[in-house]
Amino acid sequence: MKKQNLQHIAIIGGGPGGLMLGLLLQHQGLPFTIYERGHKNIHKDRGGSLDIHDDSGQLALKQAGIFEVFRKYARFDGEDTRIVRKDGKILYDEDAEDEGSRPEIDRGKLCDIIVEQINPQHIKYGYKYENMKQLDNSHAELTFENGVKVITDLVIGADGAFSKIRPHLTDAMPEYTGISMIEMNSDENEHPDLLKFNKNGKVMALGGHQAILGQRNGDGRIMAYISFKMMYDTLDEYRNLSLDELKERLMHEFNDWGADLKKYIAYSYDDVKFRRIYKLPIGLTWETQKNMTLIGDAAHLMSPFAGEGVNMALHDAYLLAKAFHMYDDLTEILNSYEQQMFEIAKVHAQESQDNLAIFFSDNGAETMAQLFEEIA
Ligand SMILES: Cc1cc2nc3c(=O)[nH]c(=O)nc-3n(C[C@H](O)[C@H](O)[C@H](O)COP(=O)(O)OP(=O)(O)OC[C@H]3O[C@@H](n4cnc5c(N)ncnc54)[C@H](O)[C@@H]3O)c2cc1C
Repeated sequence: MKKQNLQHIAIIGGGPGGLMLGLLLQHQGLPFTIYERGHKNIHKDRGGSLDIHDDSGQLALKQAGIFEVFRKYARFDGEDTRIVRKDGKILYDEDAEDEGSRPEIDRGKLCDIIVEQINPQHIKYGYKYENMKQLDNSHAELTFENGVKVITDLVIGADGAFSKIRPHLTDAMPEYTGISMIEMNSDENEHPDLLKFNKNGKVMALGGHQAILGQRNGDGRIMAYISFKMMYDTLDEYRNLSLDELKERLMHEFNDWGADLKKYIAYSYDDVKFRRIYKLPIGLTWETQKNMTLIGDAAHLMSPFAGEGVNMALHDAYLLAKAFHMYDDLTEILNSYEQQMFEIAKVHAQESQDNLAIFFSDNGAETMAQLFEEIA
């Protein structure tokens, strides 16, 4: 099919990747709809500070014409970085430059500044994709949980880690990395001592099979991922505890950690999330299909230990939109995008896996500090 004949492009998932792709296609006047299972305010629920890299995520923001808006909300001082041994000794301590290459922004804010630019007619909330029927070589019928059926020429799966579009392209399934995290939040105004220790950016405290990963967010929260190498089922033991019981258990398990680090647990309030970290096989590829592809976590879910996930999602959107700009034939567009994406994703997925191994090794703090010294 030729690009000019496309009547409808369905983007499944309105996370950072799907939204960015929508905005870039809108700039090219292409007919797209984003179908998001969540409600309109979904991004307000989703915290977490993300660093946006100049050689990937920022390219998409620039191409979309929203880099200046991004700069308004980006926290360049969020690049402060500390690497700490579990006894509290700081091994690496970097203050952010005035305007570095990886500023931070809250996930919700990032999504907001993209959504604001998209014509609201092109985003459907409360549309949970259920299944797809191929009608012929170039059309597919999508069914959503709300009963609506849509006929489309092209399906882009931007539906994250457990994508329901992915099984149409590959048998690969996400696998548990062996790492689970308990996400805890403290109020920086109530706890200036924790803010002083955390500074404006990130703290990576590493201690063998455990880690405390602190990050300042833009809304007064200091978030910490209390992280463990653990069996798949063990996380459920923590889920069932009250906040007080959870803190008591964690304080016991982190008993031999430094006093400053234990504050991330002690000060946290009742907004706890439990996460298992998954990944797709490194170097995953598939044969180009006529009317379907994937972007973001759906295509290359990786652990967060290289901070690349959201950058890759934005960059995929950038690459796919660029292919739309360069070629007319849909198969050529999809093939060109996928070949570039596969290469880049492989490198970053490997980097994430290598970092995971270092983070949870016996001398993780020393090794990471040395790596940061080398690139500083
Ligand atoms: C603990 C943790 C920390 C992280 N830290 C970082 C970091 O520091 N830096 C970084 O770069 N990355 C980080 N990441 C990864 C990053 O969050 C993801 O890579 C990024 O959000 C991927 O964007 P996406 O748009 O591909 O998918 P998602 O953000 O997962 O968005 C997918 C969207 O699709 C929707 N959806 C799902 N299924 C359906 C369906 N059936 N129908 C319709 N809609 C659907 C979802 O509601 C969601 O809105 C972290 C991840 C975790 C778990």
